[in-house]
Amino acid sequence: MNRPDTDQQQPSPPHAEFWQRLKTSARSMRVRLAFGYVLLVTILLLAAGLIFRAALDNSIEREARALLTERWGAVRGYLTISEGRPIWVYEPGDSVQVDAVNRLRLRLLIADSNGNLLEISDRFPLADLETREALRAAAVLAEPAFESRTGGNGIDYLIRRGPFPHRDTLLVLALAQPLEGIHRESRTVLRWYFWTLPVLIALLGALSWQMAGRALLPLRQLSKAAEIVSSETLSLRISPRGARDEVDALTVQFNGMLDRLERSFERVKRFTIDASHELRTPITAIRGQLEVALITARTKEEYRAAIETAMEDVERLSKIVRSLLLLSQAESGQVALQLVLVDLSTAVREAAAHFDLPAAAKGLKLSVVVPGNCMALIDPIQFERLAMNLLSNAFKYTRPGDSITVTLSRFESDVIFTVADTGPGIAAKHLPFIFDRFYRVRDDGGDVDKGIGLGLSFVQWIAQAHGGHVEVRSTEGQGAAFAVSLPAGDSSNSLRVLPID
Ligand code: ADP
Repeated sequence: MNRPDTDQQQPSPPHAEFWQRLKTSARSMRVRLAFGYVLLVTILLLAAGLIFRAALDNSIEREARALLTERWGAVRGYLTISEGRPIWVYEPGDSVQVDAVNRLRLRLLIADSNGNLLEISDRFPLADLETREALRAAAVLAEPAFESRTGGNGIDYLIRRGPFPHRDTLLVLALAQPLEGIHRESRTVLRWYFWTLPVLIALLGALSWQMAGRALLPLRQLSKAAEIVSSETLSLRISPRGARDEVDALTVQFNGMLDRLERSFERVKRFTIDASHELRTPITAIRGQLEVALITARTKEEYRAAIETAMEDVERLSKIVRSLLLLSQAESGQVALQLVLVDLSTAVREAAAHFDLPAAAKGLKLSVVVPGNCMALIDPIQFERLAMNLLSNAFKYTRPGDSITVTLSRFESDVIFTVADTGPGIAAKHLPFIFDRFYRVRDDGGDVDKGIGLGLSFVQWIAQAHGGHVEVRSTEGQGAAFAVSLPAGDSSNSLRVLPID
């Protein structure tokens, strides 16, 4: 039976890909910057236009009101009532008076208090609305009221309508004033402003797109440069543009990160080379010894001697592997410290005591300067390992007649444990690498058992795991001093106080 294969990956349709691309680019900083800028400016421009329009409308209306109030008064001067009918009184030969009366009668309505129209100009807007009821209601108003109205021609008018007492007759008077004519220029400018706004915004959009592109160019260059950085091109650096801006700061940080990465890559590379070298040497030796034995050994004793020599190398090999494994576990946090509050003076004295006899035998002067009591929160086993590594190095690398000084002191909230010797010291070029795994100074000659180059790595890890650190000071030919500082234990600490043994 055929089942529809729902799991199978369907190729995404082209429009889905298009939307995906659109979504990704919409999230781009350039789009967001340009869009945000355009949006902000659009809002500002619109708000400015609307505020201007509101202010203009307000001023137009104020002017129209003043004009209508003034004309209302003027009507009083030219109008009289005779037998209930309005009569305009003026000098027909006086063109000023004729003009004034014509202007007053241009958009005017007069009715009696019953709402009967007595006079209405042709140009009075929407005269149909002036019904008998409306006029009657206007007659009983306390004072004339203003009303806005849009005429049939689409023009806005302001109308002043209300009671118009004349001698003992009560009339209703309405005067209309088109708002169009007042501030005509400003209105035209405003209309243009709103019409050209979209074009303005489109131009602004294009401009801000350009500007955002230009502003982000250094970032794009930085990201391109970051793209080609790999383990092979870690030495690549990006030169800052010299603008001393945020991007330059980022470039400097980025270069700093590359520096650190390059250094740690270098370390890993050197470690790999050193580790394989360290492991290869005993393996080659074992193989050589066994091959020689196979070809040349005849007696049981000869085979035994070959196997014993090979065993020594196997022993060294397994020591390297064990140490390496322990160090890796330690550095990856798999070795938990068993912290207890102990007297470091005792711990140091006991570690140094292991070297009393060998030092005397080698002709070294070993002195231990420790205070009576010096508490610290440590893992006794790991601390012993640390002390033994430093002491055995001092012992290994010094010559008869040299001296080794072990000191313990308090400095602020730290305990400082120092192992100093007057031996050959370490050349400055080796100092930065001395704590690296397998790093050994190979050119110091001599016939000492040089160890496997992991001792100081352990010292560093143990110091750091205790929240402290280790430093080395040395001048070639003038001895070396290793100082480990550990946080001092607080005697009020609730942890159990254990003697070191
Ligand atoms: P190793 O097992 O070779 O001693 P370490 O990690 O303990 O490895 O030391 C690394 C290197 O540091 C040594 O090979 C040695 O050259 C140098 N070094 C350590 N301690 C001293 C010292 N007290 N005097 C001179 N050189 C030292």
